[in-house]
Amino acid sequence: MEIKRNILLNPGPATTTDTVKMAQIVPDICPREREFADKMRKLRADLLKTVHADPEEYTSVLFCGSGTINIDVCLNSLLPEGKKILVIDNGAYSTRAADICVYYGLDHIDLKIPINEQPDLALVEKILADDPAIALVYTTHHETGTGLLNPIREIGALAHKYGAIFVTDTTSSLAMRPIDVKKDNVDFCMASAQKGIMAMTGLSFIIGKRAEIERSAAYPKRSYYCNLYRQYAYFEKTGEMHFTPPVQTVYAAIQGLKEYFEEGEEAKWARHTRVMNAIRAGVDALGFREFLPREIQSGLVSAVLYPDDPNWNFEKIHDYCYERGFTIYPGKVAGSGMFRLCALGAIDAKDVEDFFTVFRAALENCGVQIPVIYNER
Ligand SMILES: *Cc1c(COP(=O)(O)O)cnc(C)c1O
Repeated sequence: MEIKRNILLNPGPATTTDTVKMAQIVPDICPREREFADKMRKLRADLLKTVHADPEEYTSVLFCGSGTINIDVCLNSLLPEGKKILVIDNGAYSTRAADICVYYGLDHIDLKIPINEQPDLALVEKILADDPAIALVYTTHHETGTGLLNPIREIGALAHKYGAIFVTDTTSSLAMRPIDVKKDNVDFCMASAQKGIMAMTGLSFIIGKRAEIERSAAYPKRSYYCNLYRQYAYFEKTGEMHFTPPVQTVYAAIQGLKEYFEEGEEAKWARHTRVMNAIRAGVDALGFREFLPREIQSGLVSAVLYPDDPNWNFEKIHDYCYERGFTIYPGKVAGSGMFRLCALGAIDAKDVEDFFTVFRAALENCGVQIPVIYNER
């Protein structure tokens, strides 16, 4: 079967290989069969290896849902009675975490930082030192909206110094930028199958410390469906998800992970870096400006500012590229129009070069001046 290959430069779901797509075509199976439980058991064990987690100390728990389910689950499940969460918030995904705290009525501090800045660690330390009720420190590793990278190793060390656990959203970095939970001081991290492991949507996973999950059995149960301990305990007892798993998505994730290990952690990061270098070369050649300085970028997302050309029309440019198999993604951040070019997925530098050929034609087609123009701001 021929499947059209689209190049997705949006921030996930990403371009997948045909072998991952085809892995979903399997004989029908009831997910309560031992054969399926065995597959999930191996998948859970293999996921630990993506972040070098010791299986004696860490476990992984699968959920049926998009990546946001992980944020919801970690926050509502891992907070002891009478304690507080510190959210280090410099982007849309950490703001989402703070919103989840509001929805569950969890006591929290939303430490708002400008979205184009990494946190001031001295300030984080001061907050932790002043407030012994903080039991959970949370931040996003890679803020996908802007491409900002947060210093998780340093934040995790501070959390531990003050006796808090460290939970970080690694949805758009895990299995892309190398992570080592021990060295990076991570107690809980998370991702979903359509990002770093380049599989399909609908399966998410949390990797975290088994002892902390077991301790959380005694914490308030704030959700019936989205409780970490309940899902963990069911997996431990039966090998299965508490409720119906996304069966075909699990098969795709197993194949995606197999391909991840075949490519290898370092080679994959090198490929993402090649892709990002090609993106930056294309951005620079057309005179575009980015939202963030490159020193604080993850190297996985380029957030590009809309030029001030009256002929600039994102929709038209998007549609021109989309019709030719390339997807770009809009986003308004801090009042500035911008679009994103992302280095996720099963693509390489050549795909980005092909994209820029089409993109340049799209700009010309709209009458956008090249190099693009910006008013002085
Ligand atoms: C993609 C992503 C998520 C998950 O978003 P969903 O829309 O629920 O899939 C969470 N955090 C980060 C940083 C992400 O990039």
